[in-house]
Amino acid sequence: MLSIGDYTLHTLDVQDFSLDGGSVFGVVPRVLWEKVIVPDHLNRVRLSMRILLIKGNGRNILVDAAMGTAWSGKMKAIYDLSEWRLDEELHNAGLGREEITDIIFTHLHFDHVAGAFEERGERLVPVFPNARCFVQKDNYETALKPNIKEKSSYPLPFVEALGKSGSMELVDGSFELLPGVEMVPTGRGHTAGHQLVKIRGEGISVIHGGDLIPSSAHLGLTRGLGFDVAPLEMIHEKAALLDDLLGNRRILYFAHDPFIVAARVRRGEKHVVVDEEVDV
Ligand SMILES: [Zn+2]
Repeated sequence: MLSIGDYTLHTLDVQDFSLDGGSVFGVVPRVLWEKVIVPDHLNRVRLSMRILLIKGNGRNILVDAAMGTAWSGKMKAIYDLSEWRLDEELHNAGLGREEITDIIFTHLHFDHVAGAFEERGERLVPVFPNARCFVQKDNYETALKPNIKEKSSYPLPFVEALGKSGSMELVDGSFELLPGVEMVPTGRGHTAGHQLVKIRGEGISVIHGGDLIPSSAHLGLTRGLGFDVAPLEMIHEKAALLDDLLGNRRILYFAHDPFIVAARVRRGEKHVVVDEEVDV
């Protein structure tokens, strides 16, 4: 738990999955990345899907929703999807599902949106019945009609369920949800309408890195995900984020890092590295 101004931040460690090393580290050779995350016998690396909970000002806000449970056995096997620890993690934070007031989606790729829905019969229904769901307009439009590269990353039934839920609020550009809690789009490097979430207090602030910097192993400028739509743009967007983090000693929150939840960073010999880990 971390206090920032009127808010407390909590990590909900709800689920893990595995992705091919190549999709996680793009063009970086395995001999380099395997020093950071050891792959399994199928060359897959184990990653977290953390949900960041922001409590304060009478609101309980989630950032992203992981993958959840509404997947076929085949898909669960492909991603070696773990159990869904949502209720116990919410309970530890003193909350039930119905007390979640807002969800901010960094973007609607399957590992960020799907956990907001579960199967009831043939239908997908909201897991958080009282939550308003915020997403960038660009991202929702892309998710509804994805380009050929991203077609398998945007899970259409979930995107459609979100659109029909009556709870979706489309945001166009930066938007302050509450004083000190802001959504900031990054550009289309990872995907169109991808956004960060910034939480600011007196002398301390946290930035949720979304999939622009999903883990501490992605602090190097060229260490991008194979999922990135525009790798060169991603590099420029990451450089701007790193400048902000370094210049203002902000804390970076990692949604997918298997080991480190959040950290302050510093310039290393070759690229930016973790300076000190921070408990959230
Ligand atoms: Zn992701």
